[in-house]
Amino acid sequence: MRLLIDAGPDMRQQVLRAGIGEISAVLITHTHADHIFGIDDLRSFNFTSRAAVPLYATRESMAEIQRFFHYIFVPDADYLGSKPPKLLLHEFCPEEPFQVAGFEVTPLPVVHGHMQVMGFRFGDLAYITDCSSIPDKTVELLRGVKTLVLDGLREREHPTHFNHAQALREIDRIAPEKAYLTHVTHDVLYSETNARLQQRSQGRVELAYDGLVLET
Ligand SMILES: [Zn+2]
Ligand SMILES: [Zn+2]
Repeated sequence: MRLLIDAGPDMRQQVLRAGIGEISAVLITHTHADHIFGIDDLRSFNFTSRAAVPLYATRESMAEIQRFFHYIFVPDADYLGSKPPKLLLHEFCPEEPFQVAGFEVTPLPVVHGHMQVMGFRFGDLAYITDCSSIPDKTVELLRGVKTLVLDGLREREHPTHFNHAQALREIDRIAPEKAYLTHVTHDVLYSETNARLQQRSQGRVELAYDGLVLET
């Protein structure tokens, strides 16, 4: 069983690099281009599984996906002679746990600039990308989490993402055993920044990196 969170523009290269041939479902955090513009490439999974790919999103995200990728959702879709991806849309509600492919998933509403977007909790692991503030109610939903992956864009502040100092404050509030910062921008120097973060957090916080594998 394997869940994919978001399908960004480089999703195809990511799954090829990781040797992933099949997925059970896709969960969508929000519909910014860097999180959904690989949806057309989900078509390859139709070939390997010979079935539609289940895609889970909030009502708002689903409407946006249907608008951006309208050609996928017309009946008997035929896009210039070629078939678009087959997706099976499932709506979920913020804060309401649901089952998918043997996983219990809790959608975690967080603030991303002026938007509400979703993080996800799977048992004692939580993944929250693209976030500038976490409501108290969502902190409650994160109680007892052991591993947290959290947005930490860069050192400088940003209007729609946590910088490293803000992410460290949130990590203290949520108190996981271990945290990884993700959605890190290109001007962050990996080794220096990672060493600084580990020092400031007594080894509890590190930068994530492409291909990172977490054992939980
Ligand atoms: Zn975003
Ligand atoms: Zn993003």
